[in-house]
Amino acid sequence: MREDTKASQSKNAPQSKNAMQSSIALQARGAAQSGTAPQERNASRTGEAPQTRGVSRTGAAPQARSASQTKAPSQARAAQQSTAAGKQGESRPPENAIGRKKKRAALPEEVIVLDHVVKSYSTGAPALNGISLKVKRGEFVFIVGDSGSGKSTLIKLLLRELLPTEGGITVNGTNVVRLRRRKIPKFRRGIGVVFQDFRLLKDRNVYDNVAFAQLIIQAKARDIRKNVPMMLSLVGLAGKYKAKPKQLSGGEQQRVALARALVNNPPILLADEPTGNLDPKNSWEIMKLLEEINEKGTTVLVVTHNREIVNAMKKRVITMKKGVIVSDEEQGAYIDED
Ligand code: ADP
Ligand code: MG
Repeated sequence: MREDTKASQSKNAPQSKNAMQSSIALQARGAAQSGTAPQERNASRTGEAPQTRGVSRTGAAPQARSASQTKAPSQARAAQQSTAAGKQGESRPPENAIGRKKKRAALPEEVIVLDHVVKSYSTGAPALNGISLKVKRGEFVFIVGDSGSGKSTLIKLLLRELLPTEGGITVNGTNVVRLRRRKIPKFRRGIGVVFQDFRLLKDRNVYDNVAFAQLIIQAKARDIRKNVPMMLSLVGLAGKYKAKPKQLSGGEQQRVALARALVNNPPILLADEPTGNLDPKNSWEIMKLLEEINEKGTTVLVVTHNREIVNAMKKRVITMKKGVIVSDEEQGAYIDED
């Protein structure tokens, strides 16, 4: 992630960063309003919170659009990515839960397919140099490898943050290479994402951080009131819904990020070094949660350096080195790079 952070920082002019943050803050405020008590009561009387409607019909659309165009700073971008939201809000009618369920049933057997993928950046050797890979629905996969071996590039390709230089990529049945720009936000709703650095909205409490993801897909207020507490219970944070991120431990912050990534019920969860900033105990707790989420049916792909956990969990392990896959083992182990 060091490279990514550098890259995203260098791409961001300070102005666009500020604009982005305030646009996210505005949207988050909408989330806050639809989530907290007085407005909630309001919402239950009218069926849908007026604030929610306001944001989705007017506020969110232009803001979200400029957000995704100006290359978000990491925190705000994560909020959008993990909610799989990018440019959402663009005049698309909200999908209801039934609609999404139907789509999920139609997912192909192989939810991730890479076919001879090459990704070259403008400088240096290709970051990925001929990757072919298939992940079946419901699988749990670790991706391991030295720093610089191309793991984060792979994740970015799956999110259609980057396009491959060569080769084919299909995710959730969508041909990512041919995907039209305006369809990217909808595509990303099918993927939950978590990162090493949590990327929570710092000035929002736990509840609002998770509700934000639902607000972005224009979920109904009553669904938000049901789904957010349900996700917080799943990650063991029901009692901390009012806390701000800085009042939480790293492990708790990562659990909030997980709840946010999953609240819209995506069929795939991508995690790029999710335990990179955590101590061993919290790392284990996060990995166990990922396993639990996988057992409930979500396909999970985890980039990690955590040798002990990889060796103990006996999952499929894909090892990358200098942009190629050097090993792919069911119930594999962490392979030494040297
Ligand atoms: P990993 O996540 O395994 O550490 P990355 O996918 O971040 O690896 O990087 C793979 C290679 O691509 C590295 O050599 C890195 O320096 C290079 N790289 C990553 N991002 C960029 C970028 N935006 N521009 C140029 N080179 C990059
Ligand atoms: Mg990385």
